[in-house]
Parts: sequence; structure tokens; C-alpha cells
Amino acid sequence: MSGHGGDRLVVPGELLGTAEEFVPGHGTYEDGGRIYAALLGHSQVDPSDRAIRVRALNAIPRLADNDEIIGRVDELKSAMAIVSILAAADTGRGAPGTPEGTIHISKAKDGYTESLADEFAPGDLVIARIIQSKPTVKLTTAPPELGVVAARCQLCHALLGQRERDLECPRCGHRERRKIASRYGQAFGSAGAPTGPHAERS
Ligand SMILES: [Zn+2]
Repeated sequence: MSGHGGDRLVVPGELLGTAEEFVPGHGTYEDGGRIYAALLGHSQVDPSDRAIRVRALNAIPRLADNDEIIGRVDELKSAMAIVSILAAADTGRGAPGTPEGTIHISKAKDGYTESLADEFAPGDLVIARIIQSKPTVKLTTAPPELGVVAARCQLCHALLGQRERDLECPRCGHRERRKIASRYGQAFGSAGAPTGPHAERS
């Protein structure tokens, strides 16, 4: 694996390289000889010591109705998903203090949702729209362009690729259901993210 030295937007859990290539620095963690991003931000390699770091995105000033945000699903309850708001979707600027929002089961997708576990899993990154910013943040992922934009295999933790209307693990072949955004795998638009599916690991 090479070519990861450049400034590139990475998502939490994204593989940055191996412990033979880099020294894990701020904003990263090592697991089993591989180094992953711990934050949403830009990866940077210090050429002097091969330390790889992730610099967190700058804060957005405030959350407003109709803003689209990038969030991470933290927990599924019977009627709602709890989401940590990481960044504004249009600019990629981070949200200060990682505010929490909720997606009610009626707002997960168009039509009836029997179980939120068919639409999301903890750790998924989603693009969602704010339908209420105060006093608590309420989100929707119902429109086609909204929903899950990056998800990990429940079995082997690889980033899932899109296969027709489902997701499929490029490593172990496991298939999973999600409320997939039309922008799955290329979530970050103008923020300059990786454009292809996150399946470049070997
Ligand atoms: Zn897998």
C-alpha cells in the first residue's frame, strides 16, 4: 500500500496503512498491525519520522434547519437511531462538541420501516438533513440522496461496497441491508473525499 501521504479526507475507522509503513500519531489508532483513522479529518504524514496523523476538521458555527450533515450512527433504539453529528455535508466542516441528533423510525426512509436494524448499524456514516435544530436535533434520511454513505462489514469490519440495492463485503462476501444514500461511497462532495468505493485494501 502506498500513496497515502497526501492530504486526504478520511473517515473514522478508515484504513490508513500498516505499522510497518507508518507510526500511529494523533487522531489514529493501531489494531493488529494496521493503522486506522480515529477522527473525521485530513490525514497527513510527517516525512521526517513517518508519523501519520489525522487533523480534525474545523468547526461549523451552528446547526440550522435543512442543513445536511455527516453523522455516525452510535446506537439503535426501537424507534430511533442516535447519531453523532460530525460535520456539515456541503463544506465538510466539523461540528463543535459532536452534538447528537436522532432519526425517528418514520424518517429513516420513504415508506414503512419495520426495524431500524434493516436500515442502519452502529458505526455507519450517514448523510442526513436536519428537520429540527432546536431544542434537540432531529434528522431525516428519507430522500434518495440521504442515508448511509459508508458502512462496515459486521463480520470482518471491512468497508462495504455497494451491490445493487444492498451492500457487499469485498473481503468476505457478506451482504448487508441499509438505507443506502445515492452518494454511497462518495459522500463528501466538495470536501474532497475519496471518490471510489472504500475497497482499496488488499
Ligand atoms: Zn466482511
